[in-house]
Amino acid sequence: MLLIFPPVAKPCEPPAGVALLSSALTEHGFSSSILDANIQGLLYLINSDIVPIDSWSKRALKNREQILADLKSPFLYENMDRYHQRVYDLNKLLTISVDAKRFKVTLSDYSDSKLSSVNSKDLLKSAKKYKENPFYNFFEDNLRQQILNSDSKFIGISLCYLNQALVSFALAGWIKDNFTDKKIIMGGGLISSWMSRPDFNDPFKDLIDFIIKGEGEQPLLELLGKKNVEKRHYVPDYDFVKEDLYLSPGKVLPFRSSIGCYWSKCSFCPEKAETRPYSSQRASKVLQDLKLIDQKYSPDYVHFIDNAVTPSFLKALSKYRFRFKWYGFVRFEKEFMNQKFCHDLKKSGCDMLKLGLESGDQNVLDQMNKGTDLTRVSIILKNLHHAGILTFVYLLFGTSFEDKKAAIKTLDYIKGHEDYIDYLNLAVFNLPKFSEDAASLDTREFYHGDLSLYLNFTHPLGWDRKKVKQFLDKTFKKQVCVGSGIRKNPAFFSSNHAVFFKTQGNKS
Ligand code: SF4
Repeated sequence: MLLIFPPVAKPCEPPAGVALLSSALTEHGFSSSILDANIQGLLYLINSDIVPIDSWSKRALKNREQILADLKSPFLYENMDRYHQRVYDLNKLLTISVDAKRFKVTLSDYSDSKLSSVNSKDLLKSAKKYKENPFYNFFEDNLRQQILNSDSKFIGISLCYLNQALVSFALAGWIKDNFTDKKIIMGGGLISSWMSRPDFNDPFKDLIDFIIKGEGEQPLLELLGKKNVEKRHYVPDYDFVKEDLYLSPGKVLPFRSSIGCYWSKCSFCPEKAETRPYSSQRASKVLQDLKLIDQKYSPDYVHFIDNAVTPSFLKALSKYRFRFKWYGFVRFEKEFMNQKFCHDLKKSGCDMLKLGLESGDQNVLDQMNKGTDLTRVSIILKNLHHAGILTFVYLLFGTSFEDKKAAIKTLDYIKGHEDYIDYLNLAVFNLPKFSEDAASLDTREFYHGDLSLYLNFTHPLGWDRKKVKQFLDKTFKKQVCVGSGIRKNPAFFSSNHAVFFKTQGNKS
């Protein structure tokens, strides 16, 4: 089977989903190959015959090769301003490599002014008019031969993010027209979310031969005739990863130590609304799998892509010294109250932890069912900072439980802890359409499209999106980000590159 990961996703590491599928197929005796059309497609556009439109693009074009080389060099990650110049230059080339009047293609986004990614009719139009897609020439010049080289009748398309949707369908349309003997299978995170909608009635059946919800390993094996396989956890197969292809200063490999979220209680979280059952293996077994990855591929970094790495696995990690560095999402668990534990994690290779704080108001946290205690958070942030682990803190504004007073409490909390926070991510709340909260609020459509996953709502406390955005721009960002120790969030790549900017000694 040929497994394709389509554009656009951040081109800094290989895709994990197809690597897990390939591993499952190989283990059960089926051959498979992986085609990361995301990195290949983006590089195809960046390296195409770009016509500069101004002095900025002229300069960027002249330095194209050097920019790509710099983004793969650790030296660039010593200077945030220089880094940003390089990233913006590269992004400029990408945006002007396509018809910019219609398409917006960046290093992390894709949009089409004529078609919506959350409208099934538009997705089918994207499939029908695949020749209009900015990646069409890439399909012809690059993918055609790779598909011809594959003797499998199945082609799997892994659609994980909204920014991949229109290209995925254009790709499916092109395959359908050009390779009539092939059967198209589509799965991945976004497809699973769409299929979780109670009103989903497969609008793609004439185009996609098999559509898969949830983890794809079992259904794919069934399709190939291997029934009743219970196994859910595999060691990803990164044999397809070519050295030095991705835009990161070293080899970064994503690794999933568990499926779903072990907490699964936060009321605002789509993970809860979509009820992906949590599953993990014994920590010692996961550690063994990770050692295999280390031996086989010698990564420089491992990116844990779990919703939250479990405390038991963190304990196992803390006792081992890896040759690679690692980072990932964790919850504010009691284990981090122990300074020695944080130092042990650092020694095991932990360079950065991403933490969903969401709010600095305890009352809001309690109503969200976040299970986080702010007094504990204060100690944890300090402990991680003193251990030399970068902290990337995520905040969420505008939930139905928050009002302006609560948002100001968050601002004060962050100001009180800015010495211990390295990066901040500020998000405005989107209400998951089928969440418990949505049932009790006065809601309306957010994006026009039958596949939209979020709703707009009348805020019960009058703290609507417009006010929230104004507060973030005019108050929060001015008071926190300017002149504080908190660093600029790397453009387009965010936490995927933040980890490479080393700790700069204790700020406190
Ligand atoms: S911990 Fe994170 S992934 Fe888990 S339910 Fe809460 S927000 Fe969702």
